[in-house]
Amino acid sequence: MSSLYLAAGLAGRTASLTSSAIRDLLALTARDDVISLAGGLPATDLIPIDRIAAAAEAVVRRPDAVQYCETSGHRTLRSVIAAREAHARGGVPVPVESVIVTHGSQQALTLLAQALIDPGAPVVVDEPAYTGALQVFSIAEARIESIPITDTGMDTDELERRLTAGLRPAVVHTVANFHNPRGVTMSEQRRRHLAALADRYGFWVIEDDPYGEICFDAMESGIEAPPLPIACHSDRVIRLSSASKILAPTLRVGWFVAPLGVCAAVELLKQGADLCGSSMTQLMAAEMLADTTWLDAHLTVLRREYGARATALTSALAAEFGARLTVSRPEGGMFAWASFRDGTDSSELLDSALDHGVAFVPGSAFASAAQYRHSLRLSFAGSTPSVLKEAVRRLGTAHSASARV
Ligand code: PMP
Repeated sequence: MSSLYLAAGLAGRTASLTSSAIRDLLALTARDDVISLAGGLPATDLIPIDRIAAAAEAVVRRPDAVQYCETSGHRTLRSVIAAREAHARGGVPVPVESVIVTHGSQQALTLLAQALIDPGAPVVVDEPAYTGALQVFSIAEARIESIPITDTGMDTDELERRLTAGLRPAVVHTVANFHNPRGVTMSEQRRRHLAALADRYGFWVIEDDPYGEICFDAMESGIEAPPLPIACHSDRVIRLSSASKILAPTLRVGWFVAPLGVCAAVELLKQGADLCGSSMTQLMAAEMLADTTWLDAHLTVLRREYGARATALTSALAAEFGARLTVSRPEGGMFAWASFRDGTDSSELLDSALDHGVAFVPGSAFASAAQYRHSLRLSFAGSTPSVLKEAVRRLGTAHSASARV
């Protein structure tokens, strides 16, 4: 009997594949009656639909928009990214050849893992870590080693101790700006320390930065822009970013900037993976990213709105739970991290929360080991302040109900 569901005959590497806990949770939270603070989705109501339509109209009739483009990305977009990246690095020139455009920055992670990590090689990640990175490194059959995140980013002193004790990672992956899931930003001192360790021990740093542009209004939060990228301090740093959070995830435009040898290897891997990305969405992204007057105004709106949503969420949590819950004060990005001090297990609370119409991601989803049982990640990006208030009210009811069981 033939069956579409027959699982025999699959390659050995499929046996250890696991689904991302967050992607599974997204299926559960798609119900209309659930307010989801679970997904890492940017706010749909803040996606610039009219500007995207105008960009599509501007490029759709170009012959090169409907054709294959270079594997490394459409040169127009690569040039725009190189100029933006040079600006982000405080004016240090960035050659176009060092920019590779990928199908979202998630594909950059996948291709970089193939290029840089042999099976069984150690790879260092943040603890807690971005789940998409954990998934990529486990598919690459890396040996995952975790270094705790502090309020000033990855604990580079602990990393140094582990390196001194003999750890030799191929790659260290970190989210230095507005961390997913912890919300914190790496200090300049730790950035310099990590870069110096990369030079001394010869590992690659993947500086994964989809959130750096979403720095809340300095007037409101008192927060300055994040320090210069880690890439400013060492040539062993590969910097990833994406149009997903500032324009729209549907474009599937991400990129990385790396030394030319790394770019050349990734280009060959990408030829095998997809020949090239979509010329159409790359040209649309280039059109919007090059329109700096519009982009600056758009980023100002995003920063102000996300900042207001972060404040609404954290103040509602403080009012509802008081000292029973510690909540990080996000300075940018899309996430707040909270930890119960009353012993509440966040995975158990999630069942009751879904019954009461609210969802979040339990902290254990972000750890390679069974940790963060009392923590949770709450995404404030996708809901208006009044919806966030209602979500927290429901969470409070769910917490009281689960405490009674
Ligand atoms: N890195 C981090 C830290 C992320 O949070 C995400 C998306 N949530 C990605 C990479 C991938 O995003 P995309 O593929 O849409 O660029």
